[in-house]
Amino acid sequence: MSICLEPDGRVRDLADRTAQFVQRVVLPVEERTGGAAPSEAQRLSLQDRARSWGVFAPHLSQDLGGLGLDMRDRAGVFENAGYSLLGPLALNIAAPDEGNAHLLDRVADADQRERYLVPLAAGRVRSCFAMTEPAPGAGSDPAALRTTATRIPGGWRIDGVKWFITGADGADFAICMARTSGRPGDRGGATMFLVDTGNPGLILERHVPTIDESMTGGHCQLRFRDCIVPDDAVLGEVDRGFEYAQVRLAPARLTHCMRWLGIARRAQDIALDRSTERRLFGARLADLGMSQQSIAENEIDIAAARGLILRACWDLDTGGDAAQSSSIAKAFTAEAVWRIVDRSVQLCGALGISGDAPLSRMLREVRPFRIYDGPTETHRWAIARRAVRARAKTAARREAPAQAGSR
Ligand SMILES: Cc1cc2nc3c(=O)[nH]c(=O)nc-3n(C[C@H](O)[C@H](O)[C@H](O)COP(=O)(O)OP(=O)(O)OC[C@H]3O[C@@H](n4cnc5c(N)ncnc54)[C@H](O)[C@@H]3O)c2cc1C
Repeated sequence: MSICLEPDGRVRDLADRTAQFVQRVVLPVEERTGGAAPSEAQRLSLQDRARSWGVFAPHLSQDLGGLGLDMRDRAGVFENAGYSLLGPLALNIAAPDEGNAHLLDRVADADQRERYLVPLAAGRVRSCFAMTEPAPGAGSDPAALRTTATRIPGGWRIDGVKWFITGADGADFAICMARTSGRPGDRGGATMFLVDTGNPGLILERHVPTIDESMTGGHCQLRFRDCIVPDDAVLGEVDRGFEYAQVRLAPARLTHCMRWLGIARRAQDIALDRSTERRLFGARLADLGMSQQSIAENEIDIAAARGLILRACWDLDTGGDAAQSSSIAKAFTAEAVWRIVDRSVQLCGALGISGDAPLSRMLREVRPFRIYDGPTETHRWAIARRAVRARAKTAARREAPAQAGSR
């Protein structure tokens, strides 16, 4: 099978335009906010500017006002948007809205599309995705899901607590995973519900304080208490929530990789600029062997992450099984991005730690990526299990003819 990863001219132009847009429009705003989440007015204004530059919503289909890129074509555009902490928000490709739009596009019925997807695609509203619960609830293992949705006449009653729900403050609606059958620990029995944040049974209890600050709407703890929703709040079919979560998670973890690779590249650019200017021991820092090693390791990590992301995108675009390739890409990229930013801080010395350069903020912003969208250990565990299963299958196939022949 041949794999073509080269984008066509239209996509290359779009990626270049995105890079220009980020340099000229977004980075000055990031400088003003210090990288913290922008106000609602700043978000809307950035999105207006993105529209006028022709770079808004590259991932959405044209009937939703987007540019219709497949996963492979998104890679370069998202990476260039991710060069600024605010770039993804400007293009309306930030988490969790981007992943939620993808999920709604695949699963929502016509009314739900009109009511939730159309305004989300246009950037008129924001959303959140509520799956994780405080221990002992759903986390790395979603089957531990404890939030329940109980059948009542004409609808459902949702009860439970969710935390680390990114973007919840100010969101118009939540996609909530709740258990409609089985018990915590069971592999099935989850359903997705569309819950308006104005619902009196949905309470924003607090912002969880975290090391990162750039996510609009923070990371919130939500309580669903006697939260009554009608039948048409069910997204897709009852008890198929874990399947739909997979529809969202594989592409969403790749787009996270793309965006954070943009920040890693910016960290490397800052380190390169610094190490060519800074003189130490009679030489440029960039010409000292151990600095060269860090610079080279950064280049290798960037190239390897890019390659793995594109490989997994290819699997998704061609309808293949992307479970293994997207886990590999996620586990590698999350660790690589961390290494790249950390090495860049080291190359810049005390400046890297200071607030005078954006590197210390980048370090704080990228650290959680090793935990969300599946911690590295969960992915490695899944990758190893698949490898063992695949090997067992190959061995069984090899044995089969031999046994047939001996009969
Ligand atoms: C900044 C941020 C934003 C988030 N946003 C959202 C959101 O919008 N919506 C949402 O629903 N959730 C969100 N999450 C939650 C995230 O998905 C969970 O944190 C993640 O799934 C891990 O679950 P947990 O925190 O409960 O850790 P636990 O499940 O308690 O895991 C703890 C640790 O166990 C280790 N581990 C896991 N699996 C294995 C294994 N198989 N073998 C060995 N060790 C293992 C890992 O090191 C892991 O970090 C967010 C988290 C963060 C940090």
